[in-house]
Amino acid sequence: MPKYANVIIDISHEKLDKTFQYKIPEELQDNLAVGVQVEVPFGTGDRRSTAYVVELTDTPEYDVSKLKAIQKVAQGSVPIESHLIALAGWMRKNYGGTMNHALRTVLPVKQKSREKKQRFLRLMLSRTEAEEQLAVFERKHFTARARLLSNLLEQNPLPYEVVTRKLNMTAAVIRTMEELGILTVEEKRAYRNPLGEMKQEKKQIKLSQEQNQAVEKIWTDYTQGKRQTYLLRGVTGSGKTAVYIELIDRVAASGRQAIVLIPEIALTYQTVVRFYQRFGERVSILNSKMSQGERYDQFERAKNGELDVMIGPRSALFTPFSNLGIIIIDEEHENSYKSETIPRYHAREAAIERARMAGASVVLGSATPSIDSYYHAKNNNYMLLALEKRIEEKPLPRCYTVDLREELKQGNRSILSEKLQELMEQRLREHQQIMLFINRRGLAGFVSCRACGHVMKCPHCDVSLSQHNNGRLMCHYCGYTTVTPKQCPECGSKYISAFKAGTQKIEEIVKKRFIDARVLRMDFDTTRNKNGYEKILSSFANQEADILIGTQMIVKGHDFPNVTLVGVLAADLSLHVSDFHGPERTFQLITQAAGRAGRGKLPGEVVIQTYSPQHYAIELAQKQDYEKFYETELSFRELMHYPPAGHILTMLVASKDDMTAILSSELLAKKIQQAQDKGKLTGLQMIGPSDASVARVKDIYRRVLYFKHENYSVLIQMKDVLEQFISQHREFGNVIIQFDFDPMNGF
Ligand code: ADP
Ligand code: ZN
Ligand code: ZN
Repeated sequence: MPKYANVIIDISHEKLDKTFQYKIPEELQDNLAVGVQVEVPFGTGDRRSTAYVVELTDTPEYDVSKLKAIQKVAQGSVPIESHLIALAGWMRKNYGGTMNHALRTVLPVKQKSREKKQRFLRLMLSRTEAEEQLAVFERKHFTARARLLSNLLEQNPLPYEVVTRKLNMTAAVIRTMEELGILTVEEKRAYRNPLGEMKQEKKQIKLSQEQNQAVEKIWTDYTQGKRQTYLLRGVTGSGKTAVYIELIDRVAASGRQAIVLIPEIALTYQTVVRFYQRFGERVSILNSKMSQGERYDQFERAKNGELDVMIGPRSALFTPFSNLGIIIIDEEHENSYKSETIPRYHAREAAIERARMAGASVVLGSATPSIDSYYHAKNNNYMLLALEKRIEEKPLPRCYTVDLREELKQGNRSILSEKLQELMEQRLREHQQIMLFINRRGLAGFVSCRACGHVMKCPHCDVSLSQHNNGRLMCHYCGYTTVTPKQCPECGSKYISAFKAGTQKIEEIVKKRFIDARVLRMDFDTTRNKNGYEKILSSFANQEADILIGTQMIVKGHDFPNVTLVGVLAADLSLHVSDFHGPERTFQLITQAAGRAGRGKLPGEVVIQTYSPQHYAIELAQKQDYEKFYETELSFRELMHYPPAGHILTMLVASKDDMTAILSSELLAKKIQQAQDKGKLTGLQMIGPSDASVARVKDIYRRVLYFKHENYSVLIQMKDVLEQFISQHREFGNVIIQFDFDPMNGF
């Protein structure tokens, strides 16, 4: 049992790294854990203060004889901060980084932003009195007073700013009305409310039989005190959101709260409205466009019991609800749930841990569950629930695959195949809408043959090789390199090159081919300014355009009833990314894209263009056969020991100095090798070191090491050993080390 505890005294303080060390008296040894609230002597006169334990350790940081002892464990109910700090401890242990990193992730720390006070005008008369008074003002032609009063009759209280700015009332008018006893001016601490101006209209929908079954199953467990993780697999348009809303409603009625995680890109106005209609002021959102202060306010509202539901991306998971009942993760397969900064946690895993601590249920929803989650469901770690039918039994769209190699043979070198052009023409004639989708993901640096579809792959890792600036091809897992061939090694054609396609280029081609069509483009460039994203979506929804061209942004959860044709222009772009998730991403993207077609009264069609029509991810996406895809993909993962069949730990070793990075990564590799030679770490496979996929970022040179093992816990142990080794050796002083467990996007 550790002898010392590091505590933080004041968590509202910006400096979370200000920890103090205390001795642990023997009688408390069994009662302390990370997150526990304790009482300690602190400051001048050893005032008794409450503090939170953030770390237990055997290493004293100060002169032991001067360390004071913890007095006791604090009495009373466990504050929400204790849970969050415990969660931080869990994250530190499972994902690496320092405790301070983890604390900063889970605790909403107040910035030095001034508290905003807001003034309101409140009507002091009853409705009848006010109406009588209004008649008086009107008769006497006191138009300003009449206007203010009639506005107050509509909305009470009225924000002061609205009255002065929008209604153009002078301070004198307001004062007179105050003196007449018609209104008062009140001041209260204003929490910025991101949903401020929405209107609530109760709209009750009747759940379908399938929806009902899912709700009842989860609710029965819930009322019986059974908590677990559910995986709700529901085809696109099957009404998953309605299931979430019904569950949350029941949970809220039982006095507990709900967190809904949703990828930021899918957190559209449309979605928010659906929640707002049911929960009104009791729901709030978080998003990255909000200021620190606004975000903090939402957390305060949650803590004060003003909210039942918080919706937001990954970080909404740390909403300080004290009586959490359910966590919902929509589109659970999304990459964005994996954090790209330290600690590199996966929101799904962290949510399950938070739910375990709070006694809450977890519902994961997706049309295309991640292989990881489905694997858990198959192994009875999660309970699988399914929605097989679209609402109102609308058929799933019909899918065609077009072989782009054939197009080339026929002399068509355009990005639009004959089939797609033909269907587009027809849709334009019939005034139906079209979405063209390019599944670009980061820099697609793979090299392929346009004549036969051959892709240059690593002979050892079965992932695509990436083209580097020096013209060589490289594997990011093992460092294997080779020259870029001038001729296809498979068919001898000279059409072998890096695959390139951009939305802007596609827009040009489409506009040239369909001169009269109205075209919208949505990508990083056109959505950069505020609301750009919503503007394009609503313009397309209002049928101000015939064709929408875009990246993955356009496939997320939108409902455009008039879209009857979806074109996936180059399915290969996500297939041959340089990590093993390529097929999974491709299957998901095609299914999600297809899910946009035929959501209204008219049935939809989908055209998938590809150089690899025989690839299982594309073939099975075309057939919309998730089950078969899962089985095929899993057997590949098992063969290669990729997650979920095994686990991977990536270690980034980076430095300003090339040599330092290279030598350090090799030193660490040697250290592991030595341990293995001594018979330790059996079953561990080490790959690398090699250059990271982006080998240089802002003049920092980056190397990576990959470790594979069946057991996650062995990888965690290894990380602990490496962290210790690194902290004890000065030569790592100028080296940045980061860990990533079961990486999704890589370094
Ligand atoms: P998913 O998230 O599974 O793709 P949604 O929840 O977006 O599906 O639902 C698809 C559409 O069906 C939405 O417009 C939604 O309002 C509607 N819907 C959902 N459930 C019902 C229902 N029980 N009755 C009628 N319409 C429904
Ligand atoms: Zn070829
Ligand atoms: Zn390799």
